[in-house]
Amino acid sequence: MFSYRHAFHAGSHADILKHLIAIQLLRYLQEKPGALSIVDTHAGAGLYNLQDGFAAISQESAGGIVRLKDYLASTGADVPPSIADYLACVAIENAPESTALYPGSPFILARLLRPQDRLRLFELHPNEIDILRGNINQLHCVKQVDVYSADGFSRLKGLLPPPSRRGLTLIDPSYEDKNDYRNLESCLEEALSRFATGCYAIWYPVIARRESIALPERLKAIAKAHQRAWLCAELRVENAPGERRLQASGMFVFNPPWTLRDHLKDALPILKKALGLDSGAAYTLQSSEA
Ligand code: SAM
Repeated sequence: MFSYRHAFHAGSHADILKHLIAIQLLRYLQEKPGALSIVDTHAGAGLYNLQDGFAAISQESAGGIVRLKDYLASTGADVPPSIADYLACVAIENAPESTALYPGSPFILARLLRPQDRLRLFELHPNEIDILRGNINQLHCVKQVDVYSADGFSRLKGLLPPPSRRGLTLIDPSYEDKNDYRNLESCLEEALSRFATGCYAIWYPVIARRESIALPERLKAIAKAHQRAWLCAELRVENAPGERRLQASGMFVFNPPWTLRDHLKDALPILKKALGLDSGAAYTLQSSEA
């Protein structure tokens, strides 16, 4: 279970979709002054050097953040606000014009904390947790961030409902362990029973695996059972059956802000054009409100 290292995938097309949406969720929730409880159940290392180690070997960022920036620079096209916001979050970690460093979800969320907010990070990998702690310790907001070497799936329920009744949870498993699918569902059932109005964002891979194919419908069924609104966005960058690399991924959001759909309507066509590798590039945007 400890073979997954997110550095291999840092700055990939899947990270772009996930992080762009996470930022917009946080932005919306921060429009009200009340304290926010933010949980990242599967944190990873927090910050990645794209020019070194696993990230340099995989070069996934070449098809992700690097490709997106090149596309926008070469076309001079108008950049939708959510993409501009995402790029600004990545730029915080870098010198002008550089994309040497890529922030994982812990850094993206931590950098956006207001003084009244709190961020809790869970990570199980023995190496990743040490790197994560070292990275978080460098942030000025370190006192607002708790890092736990623990199972995010089982620990989430203990944090719900947050005292302020305002919360955002990102659930981003690696799905290498097929129990992740089952654990995700029971974690969500429990979370929604305790704190139905919280915002929950779940990243998932779109791959030819029974559990993965079934996941969006199962999440919709959970939303229906708990009478929750939902939004589901998928981005495919190529359609190359038989190739092992990840070609598509999705984000499923319970209790999405009403603004999210419009942001994604603007952003997804650009992401498809910028990151698409063949004629199979596509996106979908569904929601309970549509
Ligand atoms: N959310 C991160 C980001 O966007 O930058 C990436 C996270 S990566 C996809 C998943 C991480 O979860 C891995 O670092 C893995 O070691 C860790 N992990 C796996 N099972 C876990 C569990 N049950 N609880 C907490 N962390 C877990």
